[in-house]
Amino acid sequence: MTNLIWLKGGACSGNTMSFLNAEQPSVIELITDFGIRILYHPTIGLEIGEQVNEVLNDAVSGEVPLDIFVFEGSVIQGPGGSGKMNYFAHRPMIEWIKDLAGVARYVVAIGDCATWGGIVAVPPNPTESTGMQYLKKDKGGFLGEDFLSKAGWPVINIPGCPAHPDWMTQILVAIATGRMDEMKLDDYQRPKTFFTDFVQTGCTNAVSFIDKIKGGFGKRGGCLFYEVGCRGPMTRASCNRILWNRTSSKTRANHPCLGCTEPGFPHHDLKKGSVLNTMKYLGHFPKEVPTGSNKVMFYLRSETSRLWSDKDKPNTSK
Ligand code: SF4
Ligand code: SF4
Repeated sequence: MTNLIWLKGGACSGNTMSFLNAEQPSVIELITDFGIRILYHPTIGLEIGEQVNEVLNDAVSGEVPLDIFVFEGSVIQGPGGSGKMNYFAHRPMIEWIKDLAGVARYVVAIGDCATWGGIVAVPPNPTESTGMQYLKKDKGGFLGEDFLSKAGWPVINIPGCPAHPDWMTQILVAIATGRMDEMKLDDYQRPKTFFTDFVQTGCTNAVSFIDKIKGGFGKRGGCLFYEVGCRGPMTRASCNRILWNRTSSKTRANHPCLGCTEPGFPHHDLKKGSVLNTMKYLGHFPKEVPTGSNKVMFYLRSETSRLWSDKDKPNTSK
């Protein structure tokens, strides 16, 4: 048996909804086939009132060993670091987080709010929200940059708004089956299996990206990078390889990728003009270019290809 406790802080519960949509394996199969014992989950747990305290206290005291502590939502530290804005089971949630993270073999942060602070932590951040071990790109967060769980792992970050069900279930299965030695984390503590390739891998608009054909919302046959702010070339996630509901993805439905698995999310702190819009220099050159590209080279290549395509256009001026 692998004991798991799941708690929520500043959360909309979107990651729980996504988790309940898991299919391979489903949440039921996690329990029946992989031996994951959910000691408590605020949405699906049957415990109420004092029973919740009992479950949590048993884990903190070590009476019931805790293998996985999952946290969803931001860590609310306000007001003034007291955490009293988010009370749970007779205590500020931050006290439960500290205690449970201290006894768990693995700590898993699910969703952008738990990983990097997410939308809740956008300035002025009145709830003093942060992520478990990051605030945006800065390591530290609530647990501090040196935190390691009992098994010697930092917080395992599964970002996304919400995270894809496979990203959550696969990490739980790896822990439950003792295969964590095969799991590698990237520089932001994300499992490399899901967060190495870019969203652009598998996007059906990739040819339009190369040909610089501009697309728009819901419009077939163009790339969303040039006008409507698609972040597919700067965002590491497997959305276009494993698809959502095994059926589609944002960019396949011609909606721009918002870059929700990257620690900057929401990018530019939702400043006016930064959402669903490609920000440009001189109204022409994209301010952000694909990860790994040299800006000047990218602009030069874009201009050359634009000139070539203009040259190929029929002359209609006569
Ligand atoms: S920029 Fe977006 S829409 Fe264009 S190819 Fe990349 S992922 Fe697809
Ligand atoms: S396509 Fe982009 S915004 Fe949508 S879920 Fe994937 S990473 Fe997040």
